Amino acid sequence: MNSSSVRLRIAPSPTGYLHVGNVRAALFNWLYARRTGGVFIIRIDDTDQARSDDRYIEDIVEGFRWLDLDWDEGVEVGGPYGTYRQSDRFDRYREAAGSLVESGRAYYDFRSAAELDELRSRARGEKRPPGYYIRRPPDSDPEDQRRQLAAGERAVIRFSTPGRPVEFHDLVRGRVRFEADTIDDFVMLRSDGSPTYHLASTVDDIDYRISHVARGEDLLSSTPKHILLTEALGGEHPEYAHLPLLFGPDGRKLSKRHGDTSLRAYREGGYLPEAVFNYMSLLGWSFDPDTEIFGREQAIGAFDLTDVQKSPAVFDREKLTWMNGLYMRSMEATDFVALAADSVEADLGRSLDDEERGRLAELAPLLQERTRLTTDIGPAARFLFCDIAYDAKAWRKVMKAHARQALVAARAALDAVGDWTTGDIEQALRAMLAAEGLNARKGWQPIRVAITGTNISPPLFESLAALPRDVVMARIAAALDEVTRAES
Ligand code: GLU
Repeated sequence: MNSSSVRLRIAPSPTGYLHVGNVRAALFNWLYARRTGGVFIIRIDDTDQARSDDRYIEDIVEGFRWLDLDWDEGVEVGGPYGTYRQSDRFDRYREAAGSLVESGRAYYDFRSAAELDELRSRARGEKRPPGYYIRRPPDSDPEDQRRQLAAGERAVIRFSTPGRPVEFHDLVRGRVRFEADTIDDFVMLRSDGSPTYHLASTVDDIDYRISHVARGEDLLSSTPKHILLTEALGGEHPEYAHLPLLFGPDGRKLSKRHGDTSLRAYREGGYLPEAVFNYMSLLGWSFDPDTEIFGREQAIGAFDLTDVQKSPAVFDREKLTWMNGLYMRSMEATDFVALAADSVEADLGRSLDDEERGRLAELAPLLQERTRLTTDIGPAARFLFCDIAYDAKAWRKVMKAHARQALVAARAALDAVGDWTTGDIEQALRAMLAAEGLNARKGWQPIRVAITGTNISPPLFESLAALPRDVVMARIAAALDEVTRAES
């Protein structure tokens, strides 16, 4: 296949926020398209008009832009095939279904829900696939059907399966075979004239000249239907790659139970797109046995659909968070400061002035070492820019016996510091420990809580130096008042 004929698509349904499973599928489609010089398409599968919503299309577009997965044709960017929204192509699907009725490959089915239920329970009773008896009724005469339709009777259009097994080569799973009785006469067009997923998806894949369909393994049982339908419509079916399902760390199918499953939650939850890209590309594929951290260009250079694994892939938020921390630590210092400023401003709900930015920049290297999510930066640096509130747990843990002694001694020691620098502050507080006979935990933790409100903050001396001296003195005094109040 020459590269110009490689065309892949991702086809999310805008019935909810973009799911990480769809993101992983998009990533693999995109990598393969970029690897082969092919075309990557985003189509919107919005045949379910009651549940589709434009705000979810926006979410899809924003999500892929955020991840920097650019697409060559599709929603928003256009292309030779219209809007790439299925809701704009209902006429085309009806025409395709009609042509199959004409050629005898499909039929109108007037049977009632009760009749179909009876057929299904008969099959179940005989331990057969549920659609086993739902076949073209032997007495269905096209002329009669036309009369019934003209009389206003409602009918669906079903595909008439040819009653033979379907076998194909899956790029991931190898040879796949479906026996004839597992492929039912599926509905293509509902009685209200709306197309089903099988019809719309197959017609689009033909019309858009899709060469490779890489999608979740949950759709594997749809594929024999799509292959038969494609052949009946005179097309040639694409290559298929069914991507392994995503599981949670507990080995069960990924679901809300495992936490957030929408890309949006990660976009807003402090993750970097580069880290998400890296992590997601490992969900069913590996760069090489020893390399876990790699960039986009490296992934493009190495990716192949045939290297995707068959076994389920584990989506582990903890691991993604760890990887995000790695990416944060490897950022250029100036980029990190800009990111930190954004995070702090979002946390405070106001912008920082130049002096405040300077203070943040001073502390930035330490924040960069210690934070794993961009949304952690704001809370960790908050004590620099607004009044603090004591974290109740931290206070209880730290403000015990010795706290008063430590705070009184710290106040005197810090008051005597000459230059308000990390080095001089450290020297003064070390001397204070020795003079008071306190260990670091008893002597310094109360100071940390007094000036930051928490016992988890950047290192103490740097934190003190990043604050103006008068603010430090006022906070120590306030903490002493609080200790006194608690004692009385
Ligand atoms: N709309 C389907 C989904 O979101 C896409 C199916 C396909 O790729 O064929 O899962």
